[in-house]
Amino acid sequence: MPSVQKKSRQTLRKGSSRSMTDLRLSTSSRPSTADAPPMPDLAPLQAHRLKYRQAHANLDTQLGERSDYTTIIHSIGVLDADDTFVAAGLDSEYRDPGEGDIAKLTPELWAKIAGYLDPADAASLAFSTITLYRRLGKKYFTALSMPENIDYKMRFLAGIDQSLPHHLLCFPCGKYHRRTAEGTERLRPAHVINPLFDCPEAMNSLNPPPRHRITHGRMLPFAFVQLIMRAYRFGPKYGITTDTMNRRWTRDGWTHASRFIIHEGRLLMRVKSQACADPDMPPSLVRMLLHSREDYWPYFSACAHWRDGVLMPACRCALEHIPKPRSTGGLQGMEHKVKDKWTGYKFDPNALTTLCGFCRPMRRCPECPTEYLIEVKLTEDRSDPKAMVFRQAIVVTQWTDLGDGTLPSGPQWGSINGTRDDYDSFQHPHYAKRGLASIFEAAITADTLPGQRVLSLNPKQKKLGEKGHDWY
Ligand SMILES: [Zn+2]
Ligand SMILES: [Zn+2]
Ligand SMILES: [Zn+2]
Repeated sequence: MPSVQKKSRQTLRKGSSRSMTDLRLSTSSRPSTADAPPMPDLAPLQAHRLKYRQAHANLDTQLGERSDYTTIIHSIGVLDADDTFVAAGLDSEYRDPGEGDIAKLTPELWAKIAGYLDPADAASLAFSTITLYRRLGKKYFTALSMPENIDYKMRFLAGIDQSLPHHLLCFPCGKYHRRTAEGTERLRPAHVINPLFDCPEAMNSLNPPPRHRITHGRMLPFAFVQLIMRAYRFGPKYGITTDTMNRRWTRDGWTHASRFIIHEGRLLMRVKSQACADPDMPPSLVRMLLHSREDYWPYFSACAHWRDGVLMPACRCALEHIPKPRSTGGLQGMEHKVKDKWTGYKFDPNALTTLCGFCRPMRRCPECPTEYLIEVKLTEDRSDPKAMVFRQAIVVTQWTDLGDGTLPSGPQWGSINGTRDDYDSFQHPHYAKRGLASIFEAAITADTLPGQRVLSLNPKQKKLGEKGHDWY
């Protein structure tokens, strides 16, 4: 009888002769038969992974570049491409030195040319070659040290970044300082003293260095954006890479994860924050969950305009969609049981939460390059490691553009921190056609985000700030 059984097994498994189970069975039951199937050189799962790794890496096989198909699709039909621009060919070895041509013009003529430039550009012109410096003199540099020309001075100083790999421009002083932790600069929590250079203004709270609030107790000093973008533009010895910046931390019941990428010469940041939430929370508990007790900012990462618009109402709306437990006692419990039996429905406290048309869409701040997505997800509550409890959690993801890291007065950094008000994120060419979140997600994964509408964070464009009452 056993031989018959084996025979039938053989025929049954004929089609799947390469599977692992079959391999194990055949070797254990018939260790010495001559017609044993050949040993596959790779386990099926491994073979599957190898096959799809290439496809999912999204890399061009010829160039090794990341191929982002969505960008290709988005760029089709764009006719206003600026391909007439040709670089000056400064590095060309066949280019004749221009000193002779410069020297042909008189100092008066050069002074007239410099007169058409603003102080920063005039100083840059005088700084470019020794011939021009002799023609123009040092008066353009003395002009930069005037207090009213501080913005021009910073722009001039930021322009000579490439010649100073071991220094970093300090904005409170308006000077380059020697980097003291060269190459090992790491982002640390706000309460840890983490100097990148020796600065006389470091302890002066009236003249703080530019920084961006990520979450409660976490700051992103502009110096780190400088370091990343310098390393990206000029080379590794100028700064640090984005990989050293990604963090995961827990504070006040919220878990945060930050990630950075560089896109078209600008640093993008994603901060994902989540906290467990109970169903049917009273308004006071919702406030406790969302707002920090110290400064009333939200616990998750937000731009300077979070009080205007619908960010906080949408968070509160999302929390209301968490399925409420049913009362199980008394007559009401009986009623629920009978109803559920009748309809064949079983109440599940861990059911997926569906959000509504108000809180589900992605929201983009109209005044700065920032996008928000609010979700309610079922997550494992790790506060008690022994209990395996799954709870609903609110997840707020923020994508933001930190700018090119040259000056804190730049359009992106200035607008997300509220020091500039001339940024229109729905009109700006960077994000008019394609959302910040989809650019970010396409760069790090082959999977795409579920399509979400992008709506304005502040559809009515009302700006009440702290005086508005909807934010709390
Ligand atoms: Zn300084
Ligand atoms: Zn809702
Ligand atoms: Zn904003």
